[in-house]
Amino acid sequence: MSEDKGEGREKYPAAAPSGTNRRDPKLEAYLEREAIERRMSQVRHRILVLSGKGGVGKSTVACYLALSLARAGKRVGLLDVDIHGPSIPIMLGLEGRMIEVTPKTMLPISFGRNLKVMSMGFLLPSGQDAVIWRGPLKMGAIKQFIKDVEWGPLDYLIIDSPPGTGDEPLSVCQLIPARRQGAVVLDGALIVTTPQELSLVDVRKSISFCRKLQMPVLGVIENMSGFVCPKCGEETQIFKSGGGERMAREMGVPFLGGIPIDPKIVSAADVGQSYLDTYPNSPGVAAFNKAIQPILDMESERAPAEQAPQ
Ligand code: ADP
Repeated sequence: MSEDKGEGREKYPAAAPSGTNRRDPKLEAYLEREAIERRMSQVRHRILVLSGKGGVGKSTVACYLALSLARAGKRVGLLDVDIHGPSIPIMLGLEGRMIEVTPKTMLPISFGRNLKVMSMGFLLPSGQDAVIWRGPLKMGAIKQFIKDVEWGPLDYLIIDSPPGTGDEPLSVCQLIPARRQGAVVLDGALIVTTPQELSLVDVRKSISFCRKLQMPVLGVIENMSGFVCPKCGEETQIFKSGGGERMAREMGVPFLGGIPIDPKIVSAADVGQSYLDTYPNSPGVAAFNKAIQPILDMESERAPAEQAPQ
């Protein structure tokens, strides 16, 4: 990653002149951008997980890709900014955990050795509470998450974005832009889909959303791709399969593979156990481990990283 020297930017003093209480919006915005860049500079790769619509398993895929990377020895942060359905704490059995908050930072919760998790779910009084927030409040919360979470050095930050191509994913992309003055701030997006035609239409929208924002598409993952019978091993195409791969080829983006339908993904989430750790020999876990290979290759394409402890 090239260094952003800040050339051509407006220069501001580090703080408002003493004796003035007036907040200069331009200064505020500048300081915020600086704070986000400082925070993100501790992270080697920042990856956004997107889906054209809800219910395709975006959070499940984000969660288990992050966990697979952590199990592969990488230092990983998982940021759940899906404000309306913060399901990651439930999936990992972290529901009800309290986070430490200071006026300027929030400390994520560790899951095992290499994974740190932050979710709106940790800030809500109960998992049952619906978040009914107006746009600016939601944007403020997303911004605070990106700016204030104290991850420490990370190899990967996986961001579980709100679904769709509306205001919320857009604000995440604008807060962590793909490129700014030569500095890569967001590496790109992974798009989760299911094999049905309707879902594929949404993926096309997601890809053009990324292109408009000049954000690289790192790959498409087809979730709920076939069902392997646990008794006889026969594979059934419940929602068809292969559509995601075809569409990725047509659109000229990488295909990272399919994750099969596995009822154990649902039952593990229901009891707050990690599917990856509870069913390590299942076809789904093998599929997650395959899907992370191109993401791991991003690391080896760069200078050798300081490895996380195993
Ligand atoms: P999204 O984030 O796209 O709204 P979720 O990750 O919350 O979707 O998943 C929606 C539901 O589908 C959850 O109950 C989840 O456990 C289930 N699910 C996701 N992926 C799979 C899969 N491959 N096999 C079986 N169930 C799955």
